[in-house]
Amino acid sequence: MRPDVQPSASHFINGAPVEDTTGAPLGVVFPATGERIARLHEATPAVIEQALAGAQAAQKEWAAMSGRMRGRVLIRAAGIIRERNRELSVLETLDTGKPLSETLVADAASGADALEYFGGLAGGLTGEHIPLGGGPGGDFAYTIREPLGLCVGIGAWNYPTQIACWKAAPALACGNAMVFKPSELTPLGALKLAEILHEAGLPPGLFNVVQGGGDVGAALVSDPRVAKISLTGSVPTGRRVYEMAAAGMKHATMELGGKSPLIVFDDADPEDAVSAAILGNFYSAGQVCSNGTRVFVQGGIKEAFLERLARRLRGAVMGDPLDEATSFGPMISEGQLAIVLAHIARGKEEGARLVTGGRRAERPGFFLEPTVFADVTDDMTIAREEIFGPVMSVLDFTDEDEVIARANATQYGLAGGVFTRDLARGHRVVAALEAGTTWINTYNLTPVEMPFGGVKISGIGRENGHAAIAHYSRLKSVYVGMGGVDAPF
Ligand code: NAD
Repeated sequence: MRPDVQPSASHFINGAPVEDTTGAPLGVVFPATGERIARLHEATPAVIEQALAGAQAAQKEWAAMSGRMRGRVLIRAAGIIRERNRELSVLETLDTGKPLSETLVADAASGADALEYFGGLAGGLTGEHIPLGGGPGGDFAYTIREPLGLCVGIGAWNYPTQIACWKAAPALACGNAMVFKPSELTPLGALKLAEILHEAGLPPGLFNVVQGGGDVGAALVSDPRVAKISLTGSVPTGRRVYEMAAAGMKHATMELGGKSPLIVFDDADPEDAVSAAILGNFYSAGQVCSNGTRVFVQGGIKEAFLERLARRLRGAVMGDPLDEATSFGPMISEGQLAIVLAHIARGKEEGARLVTGGRRAERPGFFLEPTVFADVTDDMTIAREEIFGPVMSVLDFTDEDEVIARANATQYGLAGGVFTRDLARGHRVVAALEAGTTWINTYNLTPVEMPFGGVKISGIGRENGHAAIAHYSRLKSVYVGMGGVDAPF
């Protein structure tokens, strides 16, 4: 039986659920059936004000606690998430339509990893001592690592729980407060995270969730009390949000879209390369920002690659995402499905060869067949624009210099991967890729220990790893004069 996922209230503010039914209704739809499974309301200006004011008021006391004490709360929350992994995974599956076989291992689990990792780092966040000469008794400087204050997190719909955790964990570890706005399509996971953080001992006001679309997001971003914005979303939204952040001279992390290359050389292990191309195009029905959607395959391995790919795709199990045997789920919405179908039509028109898929599945919900185009050329729209659906483009190439130049001939720069048994070449190629996150002989693995983010229009800043700390804290420099002060007059 499907669990009831209607939350007790739409928002979570100052440690408690908050409702304001005067906000515009927000329906939550299960993408596998199209049925409405919950009904929420968008945040009104009063709700937004309550969240921002509460967060601002709570932050100073949290920042004054030792990092170790803050970390303890995050680590406790990680433990609760792991204990409740199945329940949270079912919720994530209902919210997003992603198969339970994925959410059980990739979503809440990744969120718990982030809380544990940044919880562990919290006690070790320090400034540094800078000797300035003169030996003992000489001048020196030191730096104080301070939180930024009030941070806003805004999420996309593909990894709602993971995105909320990837933003909340470093923000809270550094002593900030956060107001988080999930995507209006997937509002449920972040509410659960808020509950769990408070169950773990997070003081009220430090992690708040408000619901709504772009207007609510814009109201949060432009509020003068907000010191930092971290957005996960598309490039057009990123441009708007970055502009608003710039107007207030606010810190910004932008995790945006991509059109990443996955390069398969003749000497690659064909089975591994095909596995990576499947993961990097069809996991989460292709709705993953770092997907390797331009698969460049060298001439000598092309036939073996396409033949294996076609065989492996026949093993995809499309079905009820709540059934653990299902390995391929629906897209998030009717609207996103229509966008992807339009890209497929364009691909055919422009002369790409449709190898498999390309149609909406004959079943309820927003299912699209896993789709592969071959003989794709660099100028085709499907090779240039982010599709954000289960559509793989296979492009031919001949040599290393050529493929690097073509891989980089895009405004995007989120990710990239290379498959080769020649490790020197593997390192050489990723070094030349204009991308923020790269893989050699694997694809799309994003452990919390490794910084993640893009270059070019795919974004700025980094999530995860020690690198994230720099994006949720600031340094104050202190020069200490140990002797007299000389002045010219
Ligand atoms: P989107 O840009 O439509 O929306 C993202 C979020 O921004 C939503 O919560 C939305 O309500 C909010 N928003 C929209 N307009 C806003 C405004 N003017 N001010 C403030 N907030 C606003 O993106 P989406 O369709 O939810 O997600 C898909 C996109 O996200 C894809 O391009 C994908 O590549 C990208 N993405 C990137 C990453 C990454 O880490 N780089 C991860 C997941 C998704």
